[in-house]
Parts: sequence; structure tokens; C-alpha cells
Amino acid sequence: MIEINQIASGSSGNAYHISDGHCPLLVECGISFKRIQRATGFRISSLAGCLISHEHKDHCKAIHDVLSAGVDCYMTAGTAAALEIDHHRVKIIQARSPFSVGAWSVLPFETEHDAADPVGFLMKSGNEKLLFLTDSYFCRYTFPGLTHIMIECNYALDILMENDLPAPHKKRVIQSHFSLANVKAFLKANDLNRVRDIHLLHLSRDNADPVRFKAEIEQLTGKPVYV
Ligand SMILES: [Zn+2]
Ligand SMILES: [Zn+2]
Repeated sequence: MIEINQIASGSSGNAYHISDGHCPLLVECGISFKRIQRATGFRISSLAGCLISHEHKDHCKAIHDVLSAGVDCYMTAGTAAALEIDHHRVKIIQARSPFSVGAWSVLPFETEHDAADPVGFLMKSGNEKLLFLTDSYFCRYTFPGLTHIMIECNYALDILMENDLPAPHKKRVIQSHFSLANVKAFLKANDLNRVRDIHLLHLSRDNADPVRFKAEIEQLTGKPVYV
């Protein structure tokens, strides 16, 4: 059974420990290596791999330490080039080309974000299917048969508009991150029959309301929602 542990989520750092009960993975490593070590019980070498969505610091801050610890790190060529990284543990992946990490089969897909070659991940183990989708202002795909959804819910437009932020900053948020309304539209467009839980990721410190987001997504989907 898939277990999801949000070690950290948000623009100050992202790292998620995901296991199917046998094969643990790290998705993103955008926090200090010490924190990752603590969260994995200092058994970082037991990870089957680490998936990186894109090159922004809040998603890969500890990449050099994770590679040095002997963990294979999966990223697109664009992400590796943007990070100027060249290491034998870097495994280059490509959107829409499936690959395996231990018992997991992973399909990367394009996301819509201001990065070189960002991707999300559709991750399958046994008959469970997890969607990992962050740092994207919408999603051009739908996914059948999901059992777990991890999706960015960065801001609500009404909160963003009320906040005293420079206009270019607001524009950047709108063109690179998932709004509550777009998360709702995405969830409505997908078949949620088999979905057991929904995890909202990467909430903005200033432009989000965790209690409201959780309540509204629970009301819309009837599924347990974790923030
Ligand atoms: Zn981010
Ligand atoms: Zn980003």
C-alpha cells in the first residue's frame, strides 16, 4: 500500500518520501541534506531513487549530497543542464518515456512552469497509481485509474489579488503555479472513483489558506484531503 510522507512542501523547500511498502523513493530534495537524513532515519542508501521535477532550488537544494550518498537521481536533460550537473548517478529521463525505479514504473509528463524542462510523474506500483503534479499552472493531461493524488494548490486568486504584492510578482504566480480554481477544474476533469486520498502541495505562505483549501477540496471530491 502506498504511503506518502510530506517531509517539506512549499516555496521554502519540497521533499516527499513515497513508499509502496517495499520500495521507498524520494520525490524532490529541495531541503537540507540533514533534514532528509533525519526523515529517512539515516537510511538514505535504502532509497530506490530520487525523482526531481525541475531545477528550482526548492526542489533540488540537496541534489549534490543525495548523489554523493549513492542515490540515483532521475531528471530531464533540461533540468540536468540547468543545474550544470554531471554525475554517474544522474539518470536522464524524458517526458512521455516510461522508466522503472525498483518496483515502480514511472511516466514523466510535461508541466507548465517557468523552468527548462519541468515534468510531473505518474507512478505505478502493483495496482496502485499515484499522480505527482507540482509547479504547473494547469495540466494538459487527464489520468485514468488514479488511487492517490499529490497536486500543488499554491494560491487562491481572491487572496492573491487582495495581497499587497508587486504586479509582476502576481503575474509570475498566475503563470507558473496551480490555483485553487485550477486544481478544482483538474479534479473535475479526472475520474476519481478509485482515489483514496488527495494531498495538496506547495501552498504559498501569503496567498493560500490551508483550512479553506482542505475544506473546499473535500467538499468537491468527498475524499480525505491532506495539506
Ligand atoms: Zn517550487
Ligand atoms: Zn519551480
